[in-house]
Amino acid sequence: MKPRCRVNGCANARAGHSLLCSKHRSRKRRHGHEEQRTISKSDLKPFIEKVQARIAKQPDAKLWSVLDQRWDIVTSKWRAELPTTIYRYVRAGTKELVRLADTVSGRDVAVTVIAMYLLQANDPRLFRNEMGFRTQLVRRVRTLSSTSFSRWSGASDGRERRAMKELEPRTVEYLSALLVKLFGPAGVRVAQLERREEEEQRKEQLAFYEALGEVE
Ligand SMILES: [Zn+2]
Repeated sequence: MKPRCRVNGCANARAGHSLLCSKHRSRKRRHGHEEQRTISKSDLKPFIEKVQARIAKQPDAKLWSVLDQRWDIVTSKWRAELPTTIYRYVRAGTKELVRLADTVSGRDVAVTVIAMYLLQANDPRLFRNEMGFRTQLVRRVRTLSSTSFSRWSGASDGRERRAMKELEPRTVEYLSALLVKLFGPAGVRVAQLERREEEEQRKEQLAFYEALGEVE
């Protein structure tokens, strides 16, 4: 009998030399970990709104324009000339970033990255490991651009289908490193602020209930 897939509860046989079955192997390739679930638009939406609210609250804070500039500097440099390197994933990753910059704003990318940090801080268990987080980060950012998808019609129901064009895992890793370098520190900072404010709100609530209890 062929050995079973490493994933708990999966009865499929391993594929080739992999410890995983073909289903979990392709899940790992696409999602960064064989048991990483897809982070959907609606998963991220409340956190996108939190970031947007924070920007609206302090629209002149230098941080937001600095984020825009960081994106513009990097992408316009590579638009003029892609890095010359023998590493295919570096060429593919920078090309993908420039392609994104042609269709989406740096601000939207920054907001998405920061929101992913908030989501992670809010529920770390959503991510199986760092690669799971980074792969979902890249997916959410690529979803901003319709050019990240291939489309086809002709399904039996006549509706158009779309699927995200796949990148090599090594390219995804490189692209995630670029995004983390550009916007990660802002994500960490905003997550910190969110936590502090939630903490203050909790204290305020508590003090309120204590005050209620004191009245006779
Ligand atoms: Zn499996």
